[in-house]
Amino acid sequence: MIILKLGGSVITKKEAKKPTLDHDNLDRITKEIASSSFDKLIIVHGAGSFGHPFAREYAIGSEIKDEDDFNHKKLGFCITQSWVKKLNSIVCESLRENGVLAVSVQPSSFIITKNKRIYACDLNLINKYLDLGFVPVIYGDVVIDMDESIKICVLSGDQIIQYFGENLKPSRVILGSDVDGIYTKDPKKHSNAELMETVTSCQDLAAEGSLNVDVTGGMNGKLRELLDLAEMGIESEIINAGREGFIKKAINHEKVIGTVVKTKNSK
Ligand code: ADP
Repeated sequence: MIILKLGGSVITKKEAKKPTLDHDNLDRITKEIASSSFDKLIIVHGAGSFGHPFAREYAIGSEIKDEDDFNHKKLGFCITQSWVKKLNSIVCESLRENGVLAVSVQPSSFIITKNKRIYACDLNLINKYLDLGFVPVIYGDVVIDMDESIKICVLSGDQIIQYFGENLKPSRVILGSDVDGIYTKDPKKHSNAELMETVTSCQDLAAEGSLNVDVTGGMNGKLRELLDLAEMGIESEIINAGREGFIKKAINHEKVIGTVVKTKNSK
């Protein structure tokens, strides 16, 4: 089983103020997936500009101040849920048109979090889809949270990767982003940032000096989820899905540039 993440930064124009698809990337990547070989495949995609602008505007996941504030946040929940569902529908259609038996799985209809971490999630459905030869496609969404002070929150595709990885024990976890992997600092801001071939722990990063290794923004949260997974013996690799052929090669187990996240003890 392979779990493949398609970053929101790859399939959407991430910095856009309103939902904007990256048609070219999406079409190319779904063709690459369709022409690669796999037994069981789960695709998880991010929300990019289809989710973040709304989640931010309505401060979903922040403490609820009063009833008006909650009503406002609930409206934001509905809007965000609707846009990320649209993105998922576009992704599934693109996959299907290119020959992948993609089925949509909506997180907000079966996942509940507690303090923003997945608390209830029935994986039987996912397993059943896989057994029947479908490719489940799940995504970053808004969900109900058990914590009374927030009641609702954002569930990232990266947390789904961590939870699915831990519970479904895939043989491979591949994350396609818009950079070549984890660098010593944000490569978009620093031309002297160096790509790290492997990352083995948070301490590693700190030990190498927060002066030298600086992982921020989306990549920071992602790396923490992946290090969690590595602790459970599940190795993952981050590659650049923006580069032509990389997703196909990675699924086919061919070597591509990237960063492997694993524990020190694993080979
Ligand atoms: P995705 O949408 O692909 O899941 P994110 O946008 O959440 O990914 O995170 C990827 C971004 O993280 C990159 O575009 C990069 O600008 C940023 N980033 C920050 N620090 C680092 C780092 N040390 N190494 C790599 N990327 C980094």
